[in-house]
Amino acid sequence: MPVTESDVIVVGAGPAGSSAATHLARRGLTVTLLEKSVFPRDKVCGDGLTPRATRQLIRLGIDTSTENGWLHNKGLRIYGGRVQPFEMPWPDLADFPNYGLVRPRADFDNLLAEHAIAAGAEAVFNTNVTGAIIDEKTDRIVGVRSKDGREFRAPIVVAADGNSARLAISMGLDKRDDRPMGVAVRTYYNSPRHDDDYLESWLELWDGKPGESNLLPGYGWVFGMGDGTCNVGLGMLNTSAAFGKTDYKALLKTWLDNTPEEWGFRDENMTMPVKGAALPMAFNRQPAYYRGLVLIGDAAGMVNPFNGEGIAYAMESAEIAADA
Ligand SMILES: Cc1cc2nc3c(=O)[nH]c(=O)nc-3n(C[C@H](O)[C@H](O)[C@H](O)COP(=O)(O)OP(=O)(O)OC[C@H]3O[C@@H](n4cnc5c(N)ncnc54)[C@H](O)[C@@H]3O)c2cc1C
Repeated sequence: MPVTESDVIVVGAGPAGSSAATHLARRGLTVTLLEKSVFPRDKVCGDGLTPRATRQLIRLGIDTSTENGWLHNKGLRIYGGRVQPFEMPWPDLADFPNYGLVRPRADFDNLLAEHAIAAGAEAVFNTNVTGAIIDEKTDRIVGVRSKDGREFRAPIVVAADGNSARLAISMGLDKRDDRPMGVAVRTYYNSPRHDDDYLESWLELWDGKPGESNLLPGYGWVFGMGDGTCNVGLGMLNTSAAFGKTDYKALLKTWLDNTPEEWGFRDENMTMPVKGAALPMAFNRQPAYYRGLVLIGDAAGMVNPFNGEGIAYAMESAEIAADA
C-alpha cells in the first residue's frame, strides 16, 4: 500500500480541519487533509455564525459579502424569561465584525475545504481514518491508517474528526463524563421569515402561550436561510432531567404548533427530514495535545454550553493549533 508523507496530517475537513489546513499551509508546511466523505456533504447544524465565527472567516481571507452568497444578520432576538422577545444587536467592537452570517453547511464546508486546497493543502476525500500509527520507541503518533489500508505519515497529526473523535479514542483519550453533552435536532421549513436579519434564540419552549402553559425542556432556534426556508431546531443538555427520555421530533412539533400559523412551521412546509446530532461541550476531551496529536473543534469538545455554538471555536482552535 502507498505511504504519503507530509509535515502535518489533519483528519477531518469540517470547519476545524479545513481552517487548520489553510493556516498550516500558509505557514509553509506540507499538509495532508484526510476526509472520510466526498464533498459537498451535509452536516446536521443550525447553519448560524456569530461575529466570532465571521472574524475567523475574515482571518482566513474569505470574502463574506452578500455578493459572495452570504446572508448577513445584525444580532440576536431572544425569546424567554417571561418577557416580550427582545433584540440584541451585535456590538461594534474593534476586534470583531458587527455582523453574523448564515450559510448551509454543505456549501460552507465545501467552500472552506476549497480554500484549504487553494492555500496548498493536499485534500484526500473518501478516506476513513481508523487509527493512529504509534512509534514504539517514542510512544508518539507518527501517522494514521485508513480503513482501506493506506498509510499517511507525519510527525504531527491534528484530530479534527468531530464528535466521533475516533482518532483520539484510538490513542486512549476518552471523554470526560463530568462535562455537559448536548443533543440537538433540526429541519427546514418554507417560511416567509426566511430573510430575517436576526438570529432567533428561544431560551424557553412552551406547549402553548408563553408563561401560561407548560414549560418544555430544552432550547430552540430559528435561523432564516435567505433561500425561502428557515433552519429550525431545538437542543437539550444531559444536565436536564428530561435528557434521554424525550422524543425530540415530537417536542419540536409541540413547540412549533404553538408558533404563529403564518410563520409556516408546520409539517406540510417541511423541506427536509428532522435530523439530530450530538454537541460535545466544555472541553470534554483532554488534554488537547497528547503524544504528537492535537485536538481541535468538536473532537476536543469545544462547543459552548451557553448557546450551542461550535463553529467559531472549531475555527479559532484551528488557528491556535497552527500557531503552536
Ligand atoms: C443540531 C445542531 C445544530 C448546531 N448549530 C450550530 C450553529 O448554528 N452554529 C454553530 O456555530 N454551531 C452549531 N452546532 C455545532 C457545530 O455543528 C459543530 O460544533 C461544528 O460542526 C464542529 O466542527 P468540527 O470541524 O470540529 O467537526 P465537524 O463539523 O463534525 O467535522 C468533522 C469532519 O471530520 C470527518 N470525519 C469524521 N470521522 C472521520 C474519520 N474517521 N476519518 C476521516 N474524516 C472523518 C467528518 O466527515 C467531518 O467532515 C450545531 C450542532 C448540532 C448537532
